[in-house]
Amino acid sequence: MKVYISVDIEGVAGITHWDEAEKGHADWAEFREIMTREAIAAIDGARAAGATKIWVKDAHDSGRNLITTMLPADVTLIREWSGHPYSMIQELDESFAALVMIGHHASVGSEGNSLAHTLNTRTHMITLNGKPVSEFRLCALAAASLGVPVAFVSGDKALMEEVEQANSHIGRLAVKEGRGQSTISMTPLAAQNAIRAGVEKSLRGKLKDCLLEMPEKFTLDLTYVSPVLAYEKSFYPGCKYLGNRTNRVETATIFDVMRALRFIK
Ligand SMILES: [Zn+2]
Repeated sequence: MKVYISVDIEGVAGITHWDEAEKGHADWAEFREIMTREAIAAIDGARAAGATKIWVKDAHDSGRNLITTMLPADVTLIREWSGHPYSMIQELDESFAALVMIGHHASVGSEGNSLAHTLNTRTHMITLNGKPVSEFRLCALAAASLGVPVAFVSGDKALMEEVEQANSHIGRLAVKEGRGQSTISMTPLAAQNAIRAGVEKSLRGKLKDCLLEMPEKFTLDLTYVSPVLAYEKSFYPGCKYLGNRTNRVETATIFDVMRALRFIK
């Protein structure tokens, strides 16, 4: 069994402030280690469930956060960004049995995580078919187009509500809940134990039930923080300016959604 693990940082245990997510900031050192330990917990859970090939994507910001020397020998690691539209799940293909998402977070506009955003912090809303869309849902739809189910997601409680709505069979673990700028969180150690157990249990379950249903067409709306960006990005092929700092792309495939986001986010 071949398993892909996409690891972000804004949904790891305890993380509360942007200083803790920003490469080079003194506070980042502690949380990159927590991110690495949560990735290792997921790797251990996948191996316990029978995974023989495990790929790990460092999917936060620079793509250079995981402490590589802490990772076990039997994983393939993807760092930085190739420019491929699948970004946080680059190299995912039909050969994988499942996708696991660790340290993921609520979508832009959510009040459930002080670090909530989708892809970057230049938009104040991104919707897909009328609903605010997280990085989880974008990746899960792209994975589904390849026949790859999402087995398990860990992150904040607000994201878990979106995961449950998208497909209630997907294994979920809320390691923390946001309240204003604060977080109410499991300790890192407790989160790692729960991730290990949750990933193993989910990968032993009925994976085909965890595929997202594919909409027939997509309407992607981005409302930017800056009116200047809305004008510039409106020149992407097929992009329509709707007014009020908002651009729209309509398409039939999730690949086109991901490709558009690559250029107009
Ligand atoms: Zn991130």
